[in-house]
Amino acid sequence: MRHARAKDAAHALALLGAMGPGARVFAGATTFAPVTPDPLPALGVDVSGADFGSMLEIAGGAADIAANAPLEALRRDPALRAALPPLADLLARVGAMAVRNLATLGGGVIWPGGDLRAALAPLGAEAVFAKAGAVPVEDAAQETGDVLTRIRIPLPAPGAWTVEKLGHRERFSPAKLILSVHRGDGPPRLALGAAGRGLTTGTDPGALLSGLGRTEARIARAMLSDALERTCA
Ligand SMILES: Cc1cc2nc3c(=O)[nH]c(=O)nc-3n(C[C@H](O)[C@H](O)[C@H](O)COP(=O)(O)OP(=O)(O)OC[C@H]3O[C@@H](n4cnc5c(N)ncnc54)[C@H](O)[C@@H]3O)c2cc1C
Repeated sequence: MRHARAKDAAHALALLGAMGPGARVFAGATTFAPVTPDPLPALGVDVSGADFGSMLEIAGGAADIAANAPLEALRRDPALRAALPPLADLLARVGAMAVRNLATLGGGVIWPGGDLRAALAPLGAEAVFAKAGAVPVEDAAQETGDVLTRIRIPLPAPGAWTVEKLGHRERFSPAKLILSVHRGDGPPRLALGAAGRGLTTGTDPGALLSGLGRTEARIARAMLSDALERTCA
């Protein structure tokens, strides 16, 4: 792959424009590894070293995180653990440490097969793009010619957010099923990521389970009932 390193978001957009259609933004590039189905693009803009602001800010009831923050650095950050314990726990189960040192939060939110977009969706987390501005994490798309710079995560009340991941060898691969439940105002907000089906979000458990095979649906129902029981209002 021919690639150039961006200094910041404006530089990344300029490089994308100069490279033309087909150029992809990447950070850790771990989703282009041979274990994932995504082919290596021919042209790329590397934003792993770009200045997207401070790695983590907690203010105004939200965590505001640089898109290119490596997952392992976030996992080890005491402020992240204090603010979002279920995220710190989940990060320990995303890939192995070698992968997490390269892999970023932004890449995990954009990659459709990733655990992080499913986990963060019920919190109302937003992906902030340089051109498009803030969009719900579940709508953050690949290959838009835009650059993701920050992820904003509203902080749930203690105990109000539960994430369950079921994987084949879960520290080495994205989940087969990943369920996230947030009890805030109104009915619990749910997200279920399933390998092969993608992400479903909403408040209706029936809709969440529809389209799954019989065994997956039974397991997902058990995960949901356990997660709802463990998640406080
Ligand atoms: C061995 C192995 C195990 C893994 N295990 C897991 C797992 O357990 N759970 C899991 O969720 N994932 C897993 N992954 C996938 C991957 O490591 C994570 O999803 C990771 O968070 C992706 O981050 P990245 O920086 O490497 O993304 P990249 O590969 O760099 O990019 C991912 C996607 O996002 C786009 N992108 C990245 N950054 C930006 C940006 N700033 N702006 C615009 N577009 C951008 C890219 O174009 C690409 O489409 C694994 C991968 C490997 C190789």
